Amino acid sequence: MLYKRSSQLFAEAEKVIPGGVNSPVRAFKSVGGTPIFVKSAKGAYLYDEDGNRLIDYINSWGPMILGHAYEPVVQAVIEKAKLGTSFGMPTELETQIAALAVAMVPNIDKIRFVNSGTEACMSAVRLARGFTKKDKIIKFAGCYHGHSDSFLIQAGSGAITFGSPNSPGVTAGTAKDTLLAKYNDLENVATLIEANKNEIAAIIVEPVAGNMGCIPPNKGFLEGLRQLCTDNDILLIFDEVMTGFRLAAGGVQELLNITADIVCFGKVIGGGLPVGAFAAREEIMNYLAPLGPVYQAGTLSGNPLAMAAGLAMLQALDTDRAIFQRLEEKTAYLASGIDKVLKANNVTFTINSIGSMISVHFDVTPVIDFQTAANGDNETFKKFFHGLLQEGIYIAPSAYETWFITDALTYEDLDFTIRAIDKVSKTF
Ligand SMILES: *Cc1c(COP(=O)(O)O)cnc(C)c1O
Repeated sequence: MLYKRSSQLFAEAEKVIPGGVNSPVRAFKSVGGTPIFVKSAKGAYLYDEDGNRLIDYINSWGPMILGHAYEPVVQAVIEKAKLGTSFGMPTELETQIAALAVAMVPNIDKIRFVNSGTEACMSAVRLARGFTKKDKIIKFAGCYHGHSDSFLIQAGSGAITFGSPNSPGVTAGTAKDTLLAKYNDLENVATLIEANKNEIAAIIVEPVAGNMGCIPPNKGFLEGLRQLCTDNDILLIFDEVMTGFRLAAGGVQELLNITADIVCFGKVIGGGLPVGAFAAREEIMNYLAPLGPVYQAGTLSGNPLAMAAGLAMLQALDTDRAIFQRLEEKTAYLASGIDKVLKANNVTFTINSIGSMISVHFDVTPVIDFQTAANGDNETFKKFFHGLLQEGIYIAPSAYETWFITDALTYEDLDFTIRAIDKVSKTF
């Protein structure tokens, strides 16, 4: 497949946009080559500017769980747009999506909508600090919570891909309030808490990590975090920006039956429009302005187009809960197919997957945290990525990303993908 026009468009973009992209991982830096420019997308497929059709395993990094241009979402946005695109005043739609989200997700009474996952996590931490009157937070190496200052300490996703998990521009003062722990290592967390007695406001965690590849929590890890938080008056923040409305209607809280104190959302909740949200029980949420002292705001928060898209998406997921089962079956089918062909071709690999999230790591050791994720062979990944691209399959241009399975993918698409992986892995 040729990607000629995409290369030309990228050259034009580089002149006026830093690195030619508005979010770093799109730039193909870690795999080489130039990014693909999309013209349109429908269902499981992307159509690029060169006229290629690609099977999409990224799906806008998660939101398009039902496939691209999902009809009820598109219709909802079109209808709302005709009525005005932003008011900066309350609309009934905001209450409708809030009520549905609160009904679908366990342990939350109220939810506030923002414009991105970054904003959701940033606001959740401020709320936790205000509520507990403590300053420090614990985050895990390799977990990504958006690009706000407190989180750019050993962050995952694009931040690792570019080898700058600690970004310049984050002040030492901010960095000192973020304590870093190892994912899946409870003892490490307990030690940090002990060393910072009565200073920790919150532990923020991706309850299933998805930004260092897909790393499910070890048995007992989340239960242990819950207990440590309860024992030490620390709020447990589940960053479910990736997993929310994806691994179950109620996210990981429902899937693994763990109670978080604050939950962050993004991606699926916006149906492909810029939406984030954070939610908690009433006592905590009432601490937010205008009811409480913790300030948080947004000119475009609760935007009618975004809320219409999100509501249509959540309604679809709420009415057909079998979706989650279907997604899990497709993912398991893909995982077992990939496992078979990579074994047959003597490739060194580990596959991690849960629900509709899956990642392939070119390393044999179990991938359970940032360190083990970083051990993967990036040269093999590059060949894998570009080989699949030539076959018309788009996976994330970084070894640290999870693939997302959508309801629009057919078993023919999965079989095609497995055959392509067989072909490509013969060239390693
Ligand atoms: C994507 C992501 C974010 C950031 O969301 P943005 O909308 O990109 O700001 C935060 N946390 C997790 C777990 C994510 O996957």
